[in-house]
Amino acid sequence: MRIDILTLFPEMCETVMAESIIGRARRKGALQVCCHQIRDFACNKHNRVDDTLFGGGMGMLLMAEPIAKCMDSLTQHLGRKPHLIYMSPQGEVFTQAKARELAQYENLALLCGHYEGVDERLLDAYVDEQLSIGDYVLTGGELPALVVADCVARMLDGVLSDDICFEEESHYNGLLEYPQYTRPAVWRGREVPSVLLSGHHANIEKWRREQSLLRTFQNRPDLLKTAALSKKDRKFLEEHTTYNL
Ligand code: SAM
Repeated sequence: MRIDILTLFPEMCETVMAESIIGRARRKGALQVCCHQIRDFACNKHNRVDDTLFGGGMGMLLMAEPIAKCMDSLTQHLGRKPHLIYMSPQGEVFTQAKARELAQYENLALLCGHYEGVDERLLDAYVDEQLSIGDYVLTGGELPALVVADCVARMLDGVLSDDICFEEESHYNGLLEYPQYTRPAVWRGREVPSVLLSGHHANIEKWRREQSLLRTFQNRPDLLKTAALSKKDRKFLEEHTTYNL
C-alpha cells in the first residue's frame, strides 16, 4: 500500500512515520508513505494557501485550488486517483473496522485541514470520504491522519513482526483484549494469574476469553451489543455480570 498525506506540515508527518514499527516497515518496503506540502501548489507569489471566509466570520480557510493541484499532480504521478479521505471532526468516527476496510486499498490519500478547514467545493469535487478520530476538535488534521495511517498500516502484511498478532487485540473482534503479564511472575507482591503459568492451553484460552468479556462489560458495555458472542459467552456474561443482553 501507498499512503500519501497532503498537509501544511509534511515534516511533522514524516518524523512520526519514520519511527518504530512503521518506519521499519517502510524501510523494508512493506509500505510506502509520501508527505506532500500543499503550499508547494500555491497560486500566488506569497505562497498563500488560505483566505478569509465569504459571508464574514473569524478565521481562515484553506483554498480549493492548491489542494486540487496537489491532488491532480499526485493522480498523474500514480496513474490513478487515490481514495481521498479528508480528516474532519464532521466525518464518520474512525474505528478498527474502518481501518480493516481501508487496508484493502492500494492507494490512500489523507488530506489534513487547518485553520477553519477546507473550502467545501474542494471536498465536493475530490474527497471520497471524511473521517473523524473522535468528538473533539484539534488544530489540524495531521495527528488524525497519522492515527489513521498507523492503524491501517499495522494491518498490512509484513508490517508487524510475526509474534504480534493484531487479530487478538482490542476491537478487532469487537471486544477489548484480556489482561496481559510478563516476567517476573511475582512483581512487588502481585502475582500473575496462576492459569497463565499452568501451560494448559485450553484453560488459558478460556480464561482469556472470559477476561475479555468481563473487561468489555466493565469498560465498554456498548461494544457487547455488536460483538459476535457465542452461546457460551452469553451464558458467562449472564452468570458473572448484570449485563442484560
Ligand atoms: N471548523 C471545523 C469544524 O468546526 O468542523 C474545524 C476545523 S479544525 C480547527 C482544523 C482541522 O483539523 C480540520 O480541517 C481537520 O482536518 C482537523 N481536525 C480537527 N479535529 C479533528 C478530528 N476530531 N478528527 C479529524 N480531523 C480533525
